[in-house]
Amino acid sequence: MITLDDFDTFPDFPVEGILFYDISPILASPERFREACIQLMPPAGAQVDVVAGVDARGFIFAPVVAQTLGVGMTMVRKKGKMPGVDLLESSASIEYGSTDLTVSAGPIEGRHVLVIDDVLATGGTARAVAEMLTRGGAASVRFSFLMELAGLDGRAALEGFEVTSAVVV
Ligand code: IMP
Repeated sequence: MITLDDFDTFPDFPVEGILFYDISPILASPERFREACIQLMPPAGAQVDVVAGVDARGFIFAPVVAQTLGVGMTMVRKKGKMPGVDLLESSASIEYGSTDLTVSAGPIEGRHVLVIDDVLATGGTARAVAEMLTRGGAASVRFSFLMELAGLDGRAALEGFEVTSAVVV
């Protein structure tokens, strides 16, 4: 199991008033990293055709989960980083600012998508991803997070979507 003890915490990062949960200790341990990837796997029986990793820490875990499932991976990137003509875009207000996201439509149209990120905070990022993938014709969208900050009620922003989190604080 991944627990709260697996994360470092940094008060007032990246801005005052935010307690930042850092995954570095998980990455530093092959055993903890393996366990994190197991915990990010979808529930048995869930249909997943493609795994979408969210820029940037979702990129660390999503390829491992995709390889384990035997499916492909696609990147949800910050705007301006992704080439291509079939880009979907969405704006997100997040725990400590705002961000514009893009994803390539081709890999997600008509597919069951598992979205992976490290932390669910206000749900602004995940909501923007869900909206963008739905608009792009995804057959279904579900989410796996390592940590969910329950006090910020990100789950409410994802009403209607399946959400699993390894650690809820
Ligand atoms: P939200 O959009 O407010 O839910 O914030 C989630 C996004 O911000 C995710 O992409 C996270 O990687 C990042 N984030 C928010 N809080 C933290 C944290 O405490 N640690 C690491 N990432 C965080």
